[in-house]
Amino acid sequence: MKYDIIIGLEIHAGLKTKRKMFCACDNDPAGKKPNENTCPICLGHPGTLPAPNYKAIEWALLLGLALKGKINKLSKFDRKNYFYPDLPKGYQISQYDLPFVYDASLKVNGRDIDITRVHLEEDTGKNTHPVGKNYSLIDFNRAGTPLLELVTEPIIESAEEAKKFCQTYQQILRYLDISNADMEKGEMRCEANVSVQEKDEWEYKDGEIRALGDYKLNPKIEVKNINSFKAVEKAINYEIKRQINAIENNEKLIQETRGWNDKKNITVSQRVKETSADYRYFPEPDIPPIKIDASWLKEIKTNIIELPPKKKERFIKQYNLSEEAAAILVSDKYLADYTEKVISELRAWIDSNGDKWERQKRKLARAAGNWLISELFTHLNKDNLSIKDIKITPENFAELIALVYQGKINSSAGTKILAQMYKNGGDPGNIMQDMGLEQIDDEAELEKTIKQVIADNPKQAEEYKNGKKTVLKFFIGQTMSSTKGKANPILVSKIIKKLF
Ligand code: ZN
Ligand code: MN
Repeated sequence: MKYDIIIGLEIHAGLKTKRKMFCACDNDPAGKKPNENTCPICLGHPGTLPAPNYKAIEWALLLGLALKGKINKLSKFDRKNYFYPDLPKGYQISQYDLPFVYDASLKVNGRDIDITRVHLEEDTGKNTHPVGKNYSLIDFNRAGTPLLELVTEPIIESAEEAKKFCQTYQQILRYLDISNADMEKGEMRCEANVSVQEKDEWEYKDGEIRALGDYKLNPKIEVKNINSFKAVEKAINYEIKRQINAIENNEKLIQETRGWNDKKNITVSQRVKETSADYRYFPEPDIPPIKIDASWLKEIKTNIIELPPKKKERFIKQYNLSEEAAAILVSDKYLADYTEKVISELRAWIDSNGDKWERQKRKLARAAGNWLISELFTHLNKDNLSIKDIKITPENFAELIALVYQGKINSSAGTKILAQMYKNGGDPGNIMQDMGLEQIDDEAELEKTIKQVIADNPKQAEEYKNGKKTVLKFFIGQTMSSTKGKANPILVSKIIKKLF
């Protein structure tokens, strides 16, 4: 392709503090009627004074430190002026030139994506436009709730990478327990700036895209209304195609804001883009500048936990998990913790057997990962449940894997026992006995059964003797069914070969 794709992201995430950003209203308006969850401050009455929520600031700093960002030791809030019905004061309290966090970064697919800034601001109310009516409704319950805005440098190179960034960022917000970041609920909203430039005709320097020679840069276009990860990818890909098409057909592209229409799978022009001058930013006079001292940061640092990208690398190295398995297992903190508990049970079990082989431990860890992802997830996905809902303790889960590993049950019996554990919890050893699923390893007993199977099927026996090796599978199948699936299949195959 003769073009370079240039993408920058702006992501807003609602913080789950108890209170709103600048007043004492509840930050969780669930179950409240429209406009019930408001006060004179978040409704913007004249003469009221905002007071910043220090928990929200602390969380912004926590995120900033987790993303290896720099912190402005002296920060402040600013007014961003614009007129829209869902903004009661006629301005939004946001941050302009001194955001809490700048120069951060996040690793996605092995590439460090630079983050320009992370700042705090307040959310707006919500407009609804009832179909067929000549009026609109405004609900201010959301007005004044804390929002964290993250802005990346324009260095993302594909729609896929943009999506991955959003997903990883969501995991981090959830790991730090500062936002639910559910895109479908609007708790996390992604906007993408997309432009297409001809190769070798531009450079990226000091955070800016500049034209080389007499090349004229193509404008960047902002895409809003993206409300799922899938839509992030679809909207950006659509925009890339549309822009290249326009360039090749000599149509003029303008700097504008477009909205993603999820039903029609297209972007549509919303308005010609404002520049920051249009917002007439100035310092918020009602909130003094905020000093962030070293001791506060030190205290916040103690709350930083291992985040998904690091955890994934560790899982691969320490537990011998595949890249895909590790990515799934670290995607949710609770799941990652559960996995580690299961694995540590298994390791302890190997140690207690006096069997200190590192290789066995790694083999078991891998088995644990596979059982979690393929077997357990089948149940969870079917019932639309999460790992938090399950009745199986990590200890029992580990024991199930140990039973399979020791050959006390075969894997199909393991699946049956897991289904039972998933339903009612319980100890897999007991369930195995109750269901009579213990694997038959007794050679003499198996030999008796197999002799009977061979006697019952003289035609197949003849075929096998005449060299038709595929009949072996038939005999194994017959033996398994006459032992109700309990025979050790490896042993069965060995005995059949021996008998012929
Ligand atoms: Zn309020
Ligand atoms: Mn914003």
